[in-house]
Amino acid sequence: MDKNKTKYIFITGGVCSSLGKGIAAASLGSLLELRGFKIGLQKIDPYLNVDAGTMSPYQHGEVFVTADGAETDLDLGNYERFTDSPVSKINSITTGQIYLSVINKERRGEYLGKTVQVVPHITTEIKARIKKVATEYDLDILIVEVGGTVGDIESIPFIEAIRQFALDIGKENVLFIHLTLIPYIPVSGELKTKPTQHSVKELGSLGILPDILMCRTSRPLTEEIKEKIAIMTNIEKRAVIQALDISSTIYEIPLQYSKEGLDDIVIEKLKLPQKKKDLSRWEKIVNIISESKKEVKIGVVGKYLELSDAYKSLFEALVHGGIANKIKVNIKKIDSEYFNEDSFKDVNGILIPGGFGSRGIDGKIRAITYARENNIPLFGICLGMQLMVVEFARNILGMKDANSEEFNEDTPYPVISLMEEQKQIINLGGTMRLGTYKTKLNKNSKLYKIYNQEYIFERHRHRFEFNNEFKNIFEKNGMIIAGVHEESGLVEAIEIKDHLWAIGVQFHPEYKSKPFSPVPLFVDFIKVSSR
Ligand code: GLN
Repeated sequence: MDKNKTKYIFITGGVCSSLGKGIAAASLGSLLELRGFKIGLQKIDPYLNVDAGTMSPYQHGEVFVTADGAETDLDLGNYERFTDSPVSKINSITTGQIYLSVINKERRGEYLGKTVQVVPHITTEIKARIKKVATEYDLDILIVEVGGTVGDIESIPFIEAIRQFALDIGKENVLFIHLTLIPYIPVSGELKTKPTQHSVKELGSLGILPDILMCRTSRPLTEEIKEKIAIMTNIEKRAVIQALDISSTIYEIPLQYSKEGLDDIVIEKLKLPQKKKDLSRWEKIVNIISESKKEVKIGVVGKYLELSDAYKSLFEALVHGGIANKIKVNIKKIDSEYFNEDSFKDVNGILIPGGFGSRGIDGKIRAITYARENNIPLFGICLGMQLMVVEFARNILGMKDANSEEFNEDTPYPVISLMEEQKQIINLGGTMRLGTYKTKLNKNSKLYKIYNQEYIFERHRHRFEFNNEFKNIFEKNGMIIAGVHEESGLVEAIEIKDHLWAIGVQFHPEYKSKPFSPVPLFVDFIKVSSR
């Protein structure tokens, strides 16, 4: 294939949000990748934040961190979990980034003499950022997911940019997919196509006629319904693809789309060579999930639990740990502010995830005490590790008011403290310790056995750190420093010696976990918890 001829697939959403556009994009990416194409995925988020890093998980779910340290929308996590294609800073675009860069150029005088406008300056910037991913990764196919719903004010410049994009590079190199909802009305027992008709019309008014419609539905679409949609939206009937709700696992979705012929029609319309694909990767995973009899229950003690997207990568990583052990993982969400010790009676392992701010801290510390004293597998991630250190200081080392400086700047025992390079920082956006760092594992640690290697690479997102002034006293009293960042001496992992399995890590191993390549820490945590 001519490498300068990247094909582009733009996925827009209609009717309402939360239809699973990210997973749809990722699944299509996987199907094309399994045919041997070099694919990439990019997300456009029409909000004004420069990145997702300053937003609460209640806004759009978890903040996903890429290897190069971008704080992005959680869909980038879906892209990495479903494919072999890596994502980096350039795979995520926001309105904030686009305007920031255009305004900076204006200040530097790069548009001297001109009136700077949405068209052409903003749209040109958007188009350049799309092109950049294709060239930098040398892609056969780039799939671009346009966030938001068609009709939103915020997404109009992006829709305009992709319309122009097709014009610039030739429509034969571009495919527009529109994902909509076909709601089922129980009282009349009918599936309704009208919202989809309106959505396609709205998109048409912005100059884009979709080539393929993907229809999210809770009931199978009959031939008549497909015909009706086709006629009313001016899209071929075979390009009206059913995206039926699945009950088992999201990892079934690539198989479902394959059955619907989604990738066949994409390839045909883009005039790409019809290469054979091997779906065994997904078949294997779906089979293991459906056949796993044994179950394990993991208590996750967090504070954003009403919204399961807030811990998206983490929950998926636990499921991946289960797949590796052929065990079904049940997650018990335990609200760190409202629980009593009875909540732990039926759990086999306890996980304390990452987080920010003081709400729910006391509960998390109580949960750690419970797991430590009762020899229940205990896994602390980032804030979870920091609180394992605080708990150990208070209850084993007798440092009564030990704390993290995040919660009490005047603590007499700042066992977790602000990193030196963080002390001067004023801007909060994009200034944490972010992205991949190398950790050297201690040969006498469980962690070393689990990973079976001396150096590991995991992703970080934090400002606070284990305070090395206390290192000796912790080590003397039964805490193992299991991993360090050699260059800075920062402690990256700890373990409690006389315990079945109590490991805290400063990094977020969940970001790198994939169903077909789980992170060893999750595999071992599930294995030990299920015994
Ligand atoms: N709030 C803590 C810090 O900034 C932990 C961050 C996290 O859990 N991601 O260091």
